[in-house]
Amino acid sequence: MSNEDTSIHDFDFGLICEYFSHIERQGPGSPEATLKALSFINNLNNESSIIDIGCGTGGQTMVLAQNAPGNFKGLDMFPTFIDLFNANAKKNNLQDRVKGIVGTMMELPFNDEEFDLIWSEGAIYNIGFEKGLNYWNRFLKRGGYIAVTEACWFTETRLQEINSFWNDAYPEIDAISNKVDVMQKAGFIPVATFILGQDCWLENFYDPQSIIQEEFLKKHPSNENAENLVGEMKHEVEMYNKYKEFYGYVFSSAGRFNL
Ligand code: SAH
Repeated sequence: MSNEDTSIHDFDFGLICEYFSHIERQGPGSPEATLKALSFINNLNNESSIIDIGCGTGGQTMVLAQNAPGNFKGLDMFPTFIDLFNANAKKNNLQDRVKGIVGTMMELPFNDEEFDLIWSEGAIYNIGFEKGLNYWNRFLKRGGYIAVTEACWFTETRLQEINSFWNDAYPEIDAISNKVDVMQKAGFIPVATFILGQDCWLENFYDPQSIIQEEFLKKHPSNENAENLVGEMKHEVEMYNKYKEFYGYVFSSAGRFNL
């Protein structure tokens, strides 16, 4: 979502929230990918506690709650997203067991070993994969699971253009095998790892944005921040279309087994 020249910090947070509030997901993903990752988790029952960290407006949380038992919390730093998350839960009649909370993933407002499952799609990069896994581990019960998506390289080598794009945006991007190693060193036993399909980026993330961009710019005429945001997202799509064989998101499920 950002690079060094025009990082997320240069944007008006209100504008970012408004832009991403118009679309169902705020990162690459799909209901099918969420359900596939869920199929590797087998410890849930009606008493289970699940946290979705960096939940956004909750597209994936609703899919989870419709397909798994237990009580779900979604945590995000943006109150606007959490308001939409809670409205979304209500719309799906899930408000009794799905609740959104404003907070930061850097300092979770929870107890040690509180959760049976930690979920996080397209968000752990904000704290950093290694730091996030090491910090979040303690909030998981022994025997609990974690499922996260993370940016990975698919090839050993690549052109300079895409290399610098990612090194500016998220230098922690790495080979899948190295990410699995980081998980294991953070106290998890890897269960499954799979690549998100191109539909997760195009049909589910970039295409819905191209529909709202014109309207968004019309609503904010001569607003440099709005233009930068749309310009940056368009550049991201361009990079994806040009280099999608070289990188993508990887979904990893892992367990905290008796450690
Ligand atoms: N999981 C959602 C949203 C992904 S976008 C989806 O897949 O659609 C990343 C989300 O992380 C955004 O909603 C953003 O507001 C949130 N976020 C970024 N930094 C955060 C932080 N420090 N603490 C909590 N949430 C954060």
